[in-house]
Amino acid sequence: MEEKCQFCGGAVKKKTVSLDLWKKEKLYVFKNVPAKVCEQCGEKYFSSKIYGIIDRLLKDKSKPDETMIVPVLSLEKFAEEAVS
Ligand SMILES: [Zn+2]
Repeated sequence: MEEKCQFCGGAVKKKTVSLDLWKKEKLYVFKNVPAKVCEQCGEKYFSSKIYGIIDRLLKDKSKPDETMIVPVLSLEKFAEEAVS
C-alpha cells in the first residue's frame, strides 16, 4: 500500500535525512535519521520510535558524534529595508 503526504497528497518514500532541532537556545543536528519524505513538497515524516530515540539522545550527556560551527547572521541592519 502506497502512503500519501498529508499536505499535498504526493507519494512518500523512505529516505535517510538530517534533522535540526532547537532545545533551550541550542541547536542540535541529527544525521542519518530514517524518515518518510514526500517527493512533491519535501515534508518529512518521522515515526514515534525515531522521536523516542531523539529524546534519548538529547538527554544523553555524553559527547556528540561531531560538532560544527554554524554561521549566525543578523538582519538587524536591514530592519528598514525588510519592512518596506
Ligand atoms: Zn507533500
